[in-house]
Amino acid sequence: METTPAAPAYDVGAVRRDFPILDQLVHGRPLVYLDSAASAQRPRQVTEAIRRHYETSHANVHRGAHELSLRATEAYEGARASVARHIGASSEAEVVFVRGTTEAVNLVAGSWGAVNMGPGDEILLTKMEHHSNIVPWQLLAERTGARLRFVDVSPDGQLVMADYARLLSERTRLVGVTHVSNTLGVINPVREITELAHDAGALCLIDGAQATPHLQVDVARIGCDFYAFSGHKMCGPTGIGVLWARRELLEAMPPYQGGGEMISSVTLEGSTWAAVPQKFEAGTPNIAGAIGLAEAIRYLDGIGLDALQRYESELAGYALERLGRIEGLRVYGPRSDRVGVLSFTYLDIHAHDLATILDQRGIAIRAGHHCNQPLMDHFGVDATARASLYLYNTHEEVDALCEALDLAGELFCRSL
Ligand code: PMP
Repeated sequence: METTPAAPAYDVGAVRRDFPILDQLVHGRPLVYLDSAASAQRPRQVTEAIRRHYETSHANVHRGAHELSLRATEAYEGARASVARHIGASSEAEVVFVRGTTEAVNLVAGSWGAVNMGPGDEILLTKMEHHSNIVPWQLLAERTGARLRFVDVSPDGQLVMADYARLLSERTRLVGVTHVSNTLGVINPVREITELAHDAGALCLIDGAQATPHLQVDVARIGCDFYAFSGHKMCGPTGIGVLWARRELLEAMPPYQGGGEMISSVTLEGSTWAAVPQKFEAGTPNIAGAIGLAEAIRYLDGIGLDALQRYESELAGYALERLGRIEGLRVYGPRSDRVGVLSFTYLDIHAHDLATILDQRGIAIRAGHHCNQPLMDHFGVDATARASLYLYNTHEEVDALCEALDLAGELFCRSL
């Protein structure tokens, strides 16, 4: 009888060996890195790909006839093809390299928004958006007379889906939503939200900054119009990210920045534009960044995002269960349909003090508003502590976090 071979067990020890930065002492203790939602670490494969590029193939792209320029162009455009394949884009022309999610949203607001929004038009966001999916729209609203509206967040950290029916109307031009919240960890139903937006005649932009590190994203399956993400949260370099958009939208949108590379011809009287995506990539791009991002994608694909998600989900469940046993600690966000981004408040200890106490034990967490001030206001706090788990974290590290929190709690109670 034939049996299906069991999926190989996730080998976190092998994964960790790819990340040399993790192997160090901080304040005399083994580093426990729980800040990947702010920026993940890079595996050796990524830093080596960047080094190889600079040591063997670097030159400017697109304009040169010489060997190095051809090699660099091939690698840069090859990176675009890797990204397109990875996210299910129907064409490489739909992948615009930008600095990160922030720039991608600004590009859509500054280009698409400038010609498609007017007085009385509405942009429907949510109260859990990162500032980078709020502020560019506020700037656009100021310039155009458009208005922002916001879908509410439930006490357990989920979108109040009924608000879409209430707030979508013929005035709505764009719906913007984060795929995964950087504070609550919740995975939002972006396919359903896209459908609701389209039914109302609006376009849908998804902020994928916290999704692409953990989930297999398929823009065709989601059906959205714009999808933005950053390299540095998914094991790639800083300073590189992607705006994916449907080709016909990109073709109809005016340029975002002017300069070299984005033109077809220039005279003193005026210019014509290059085809997409070059129309949106003025100036020398981040060549090494794109190459590093493609390598990060290869790395994640090598592990398999399904296997990674299974491991992370089990680890997040373990962390939630252990944190839930600490008296006086409140974790924000739902129990399920989430990633391991764990925001919490603990007794009356200020989040910044907690982060400092944990740092003394080699544990790196983040404290603050996480660029989610409206969400903090919604929950009536000015800050939370946030421990974010990624593919290299272990159960022992979760134990270390909980032991350090227990200790911080004891110290706090004794000081009362
Ligand atoms: N959106 C979300 C949900 C994020 O978590 C972040 C990064 N904290 C951003 C957008 C902005 O990404 P970047 O700083 O890489 O542009």
